[in-house]
Amino acid sequence: MQHIIDRFISYVTVDTESDASSDTTPSTAKQWDLANQLVDELKAIGLTEVTIDENAYIMATLASNVDHDVPVIGFISHFDTTPDFTGANVKPQIIPNYDGGDIVLNKELNIILSPNYFSDLLQYKGQTLITTDGTTLLGADDKAGITEIVTAMEFLVKNPQIKHGKIRIGFTPDEEIGRGAHKFDVEKFGAECAYTMDGSQIGELEYENFNAAGAKITFKGKSVHPGYAKGKMINSMLIANKFISKLPKEEVPERTRGYEGFFHVHHIKGEIEETVLELIIRDHDKRKFEKRKELLHKITKKINKKFAKQFGEDIVTTEIKDQYYNMKEKVEPVIHIVDIAEQAMKELGIKPLIKPIRGGTDGCQLSYKGLPCPNIFAGGHNFHGKYEYVPVESMQKAVEVIVKIAEITATKK
Ligand SMILES: [Zn+2]
Repeated sequence: MQHIIDRFISYVTVDTESDASSDTTPSTAKQWDLANQLVDELKAIGLTEVTIDENAYIMATLASNVDHDVPVIGFISHFDTTPDFTGANVKPQIIPNYDGGDIVLNKELNIILSPNYFSDLLQYKGQTLITTDGTTLLGADDKAGITEIVTAMEFLVKNPQIKHGKIRIGFTPDEEIGRGAHKFDVEKFGAECAYTMDGSQIGELEYENFNAAGAKITFKGKSVHPGYAKGKMINSMLIANKFISKLPKEEVPERTRGYEGFFHVHHIKGEIEETVLELIIRDHDKRKFEKRKELLHKITKKINKKFAKQFGEDIVTTEIKDQYYNMKEKVEPVIHIVDIAEQAMKELGIKPLIKPIRGGTDGCQLSYKGLPCPNIFAGGHNFHGKYEYVPVESMQKAVEVIVKIAEITATKK
C-alpha cells in the first residue's frame, strides 16, 4: 500500500494548475514539471515508445505478450488540476483506518471533513484516506487516475504470466479547462478504444454524457430620460427578463437530475441600451437537445416580431454554439468495451455504478475524434476543493480493474 501512496504523493505535490485564459498548450508552464517526471517514470518501469510532444501530451506502450491478435486498448488520464481552487503546496494527510468520524483537516482554520456533511465518507470506514490540509485541493482529479495507470502497467511488466495485448497509455494536460482532448493525436495513439480513468467513487462506469451548447443572447434598447420615456424607452434588461421568463421553469440545474436536461442562465450583464445574456443547454437526448435550441430561436423570433415596429430592426440576436455531444452514439456500436469494464468490476467484487454523466469528459471529445472512450472511477471524492479526498483502497481497486480489463480483452475472441 505504501508504494501506491508514495507514487500518488509524488504527483499531487507538483503544482499543475491549468489556466483557461492562456492560449498555449499546456496552458501553464508548470505542467511540464510533472509531465517530464512522468516520462522518466514510464521509461523506468519498462514501458516502450514513451513520447512527449511539443504540447506535453504523453504516450507510452506496454507491448503485447501473446501471439494472437488482440485489439489495442488504451488508458487515459490528465495531469492538470482545476483553476477553481489552488493546487500549490499540497500537503496530503494520510488517515489510516478511518474511524467514521470527523477528520480535522486544519486545526487553526477549523476546517473539518465530516460525514455529517459528506456522507460518502462512511462507506470507507476502516480504510486509508488521503486528504488535504484544508488549504488546497488534493488533485486526485486526476492524479489518482495517473497513479492507477502507472501502477497497473508496472504490475503487468512485473507479472508476465498475466496475458494481455498491446496497451497504450495517454496522459494529457489541460483537461480541466476543456482542452485535454484538443491536441490528442488519436491516430498516433493507435488504439481501438480507450478508458479515461477520471471518474469519482469506486464502481463508476460512464459512457453517456450531455449534448451541450452555449448561447449568447444580445438585447438592444433605447435610453430616454425616464421622466419623458413613455412610449419611447426600451429597457433591454426588461426584455432579457421577459426572455428568461419564457424558459421552462422546472428545467434548470437545481431542479433536474439523471437524464433530465436543462437551460442554465449563467451570466447576465446589462444596462438600458444593451443586455447580454449567456446560457448553456444540456440534454442527453439528441432530439430534445435540438428542440431546446429551437425554443431559443422561437422566443427570439416572437420578441423581435413584437418590437419590430417600435425598434425598426431585430431587438434580440441569438447565437448558439454546440460545445460537445453525447459519446453514447460513438460507444454504442462498440458496447462490448463497456461490457468488458463491467465484467472486470464484477469479477473483482466491485458493484458497477453505471450512470449518465451530467457534464462532459475528455472521453466524449475523444469518442468523436474516433477513439471510443468510456470513463471509469479513479476513486476520489469532492473534487475541485479543499474537501477532496481519496481512499487508497479505491485506487488499488482501480489498478485491479485496469489489469482485469487488459486480461479479459486478451482472452475474448
Ligand atoms: Zn478529471
